[in-house]
Amino acid sequence: MKELLFLEPVFKETIWGGNRLKTDFAYEIPSDHTGECWAISAHKSGDCVISRGTYKGKHLSELWKEHRELFGNLPGDQFPLLVKIIDAKADLSIQVHPDDAYAGEHENGSLGKTECWYILDCDPGAQIVVGHHAKNHEEVEQMIRQARWDEFIRVIPIKKGDFFQITPGTIHAIKTGTLILETQQSSDITYRVYDYDRLQDGKPRQLHVQQSIDVIQAPFVPQSTEEESFRVGDGEITKLVSCQYYSVYKIAVKGKMTLPNENPFVNVSVLEGAGEVDGVSIKKGDHFIIPAGYKDVTYEGEMMLISSSVLP
Ligand code: ZN
Repeated sequence: MKELLFLEPVFKETIWGGNRLKTDFAYEIPSDHTGECWAISAHKSGDCVISRGTYKGKHLSELWKEHRELFGNLPGDQFPLLVKIIDAKADLSIQVHPDDAYAGEHENGSLGKTECWYILDCDPGAQIVVGHHAKNHEEVEQMIRQARWDEFIRVIPIKKGDFFQITPGTIHAIKTGTLILETQQSSDITYRVYDYDRLQDGKPRQLHVQQSIDVIQAPFVPQSTEEESFRVGDGEITKLVSCQYYSVYKIAVKGKMTLPNENPFVNVSVLEGAGEVDGVSIKKGDHFIIPAGYKDVTYEGEMMLISSSVLP
């Protein structure tokens, strides 16, 4: 089929969110505490609607159910990926996600969550939490039970363009002044281990201390992601990560570039600039899916795109 599937994002208000989804992306957001734009999602907590074309008005979950041919007839009862833009005006809670096995057993058969972050922008001096300093699992439990957060948490500096792969069992937190493009398994299972003793509507948010201790991996081993770049005309494609759940690429479009496409489907987010995809105008803040059988894709203009796909 030679028709792209454009999606209408779903927005989530959060205690740590800001207004950059409006000021940077020109979205209509519900309030100045909007933390997340679920840009490509068929998850029941935020199921995107197709915004134009043959399937206009349909939810992505319906297309997955009724038109699996658009996704190369992949198996599975849910669309596997979820792409978000996150605006962290304040710190997110310190958290960890389970793997498929733990989530399947303890969370009603849900998927686990592997996720990755591309830093779209951040304040000078911005930081992020990835991993911890405990030397073994026993020390993880002690440090958490004794609330020795400063000693426990591994905080590192970040800059625009950095990329992080966060595997299940990795303790992490996005911190204040950070705008991120997140690609993840379509799952919503988060175990919060520490929330800075913040209150939401007068009450602390729920913590999941035991589950966190169960799933945190020790010692922490940093994920090394080897970025590989190649040129296409004047543009450039960079592979950010490839794992069993997804491959994520950054595409710097400059002039005209044609990319072959044999994937079951490809998610594409326009994160900078404006241009065209096969003659259709696109601009920063647009998100679409290239369906199965679409074949070659031609981009034109000056844009930064992030794409994700799964293995056939
Ligand atoms: Zn997370």
